[in-house]
Amino acid sequence: MTTVANHLPTTELQAIDAAHHMHPFTTGKEINENGARIITSAKGVWLKDSEGQEILDGMAGLWCVNIGYGRPEIADVAARQMRELPFYNTFFQTSHVPALMLAKKLAELAPGDLNHVFFANGGSDANDTNIRMVRTYWAEKDQPERDVIISRWNGYHGSTIGGASLGGMKGMHAQGGLPIPGIEFIDEPNWWAEGGDQTPEEFGLARARQLEEKIKEIGPEKVAAFIGEPIQGAGGVIIPPATYWPEIQRICDKYGILLIADEVICGFGRTGNWFGSQTMGIKPDIMTVAKGLSAGYVPIGASIVSDEIAKVIGDTEFNHGYTYSGHPVACAVALENLRILEEENVLEHVRNVAGPHLKKRWEELAEHPLVGEARVEGLMGSIALTPDKATRAPFAADAGTVGYICRERCFANNIVMRHVGDRMVIAPPLVITCEEIDIFVDRARKSLDECLEKIR
Ligand code: PLP
Repeated sequence: MTTVANHLPTTELQAIDAAHHMHPFTTGKEINENGARIITSAKGVWLKDSEGQEILDGMAGLWCVNIGYGRPEIADVAARQMRELPFYNTFFQTSHVPALMLAKKLAELAPGDLNHVFFANGGSDANDTNIRMVRTYWAEKDQPERDVIISRWNGYHGSTIGGASLGGMKGMHAQGGLPIPGIEFIDEPNWWAEGGDQTPEEFGLARARQLEEKIKEIGPEKVAAFIGEPIQGAGGVIIPPATYWPEIQRICDKYGILLIADEVICGFGRTGNWFGSQTMGIKPDIMTVAKGLSAGYVPIGASIVSDEIAKVIGDTEFNHGYTYSGHPVACAVALENLRILEEENVLEHVRNVAGPHLKKRWEELAEHPLVGEARVEGLMGSIALTPDKATRAPFAADAGTVGYICRERCFANNIVMRHVGDRMVIAPPLVITCEEIDIFVDRARKSLDECLEKIR
């Protein structure tokens, strides 16, 4: 049996990695100078690297390993499915049991009349599906001019041409000639960085009302949809003011614009409910899901859409699909993951145990001299690093430098906390215990102390 060569010395693995492996969102300089940290195994919330170090993963991999690492039930289900039916497609009027059962389960879990599922491989390509789906929907309703999708600066919707176009990351638009035509942007509801003298409530309303201004500017008859993450994740865990989403919903309803909630991070318990839309009180027409759908054990994503959209799309042939749409192994794994989330009451654990404990411990970090705001919703949180808490000032030096130093100190202290510019973010596996949260927060505080020492 072939095994992956875990046994090579770290320096040798790093040299092979640097020579041949191109990393997402990493510079060659970082890889060549320092080498990658090579993760070899994981259990629960703990990673192990090639040096035998045990690291507490505060990011659930990439916001996805919600049930924790190393669940044998998932491996067993995957192996069984591979033996029984490793692949079949869902094109041209064929189906298979894992895909149809997962679609049924998602319809049960999703709010409102979101009863229909179009499968993808991850979040980016599910958002590509959404672009084509909403434009096709309006075209089928004899309104083909309704093709503009409004999104938000600093939102993140993936790395494909469509996903990165929907996203509002200027650094991503700068590479590859993005965005594609027909995508417009409004500002994000980031009160701490941009709220000025307004209260969070005033600011939330003002930012939401930019949507109405944008719709009027474009012409309501040309707007197909608005897309947003209930809580922006990759943008730095920006928890919007309470006034924000109700106003967005009101505006979408008023102009008959489809609302797409990108639940790739917020879905499957991250905020203590099945979906962030429930936590934020949103009634979307489409939800994008991925990551927590399979807890990251295998790639899978999906668009979950309303009865009305499915009916209109079903009246035509939607010329769209991926070879691996509804891959049987991925669907079987996702079903097993959902069973674990339900039977082990993971959402209750987030709502009543781990979430409140993290919130209490995390908010204590706001006393640290480097920390401006410290916020948590469910099991996703962030801290804003600042040289001046009172004015909520950013660092004058290159944005992200202090965040990068802090991330390095976290690594050195054997925790994973990611930086987004000068915000530090956390989204641990949902099964994290209160004791593990204590270890994490203590190490985070130590890392902040060391970071402060370094920049003094
Ligand atoms: N949408 C959101 C909100 C995300 O956070 C991500 C990834 O982080 C994506 C879409 C893209 O998903 P994927 O990386 O699975 O393509």
